[in-house]
Amino acid sequence: MEVWSMSGPRFTLDCYIPSDVYATIPAAKKLAFRDAVRAIKAYARKINAGAANEEMTVKATYHICHHDEPGNTIPCNITEQDI
Ligand SMILES: [Zn+2]
Repeated sequence: MEVWSMSGPRFTLDCYIPSDVYATIPAAKKLAFRDAVRAIKAYARKINAGAANEEMTVKATYHICHHDEPGNTIPCNITEQDI
């Protein structure tokens, strides 16, 4: 049985890119970014998986954000998907 320390570095990254800018990024670069995120996730490990006090230690998501659109009724979590 492994023993986990109770503290550790936790990284949170939240990047918004306007759609017109995102559209100019080559597909290969988008895939390279996705793969880099997945590689980082592979370093991290979920602790207490399935336990009542489960803590999310590995999370990377992507969504189309309508947050600032006037009259928006689409919540961010509706379009959210794991990376
Ligand atoms: Zn959003």
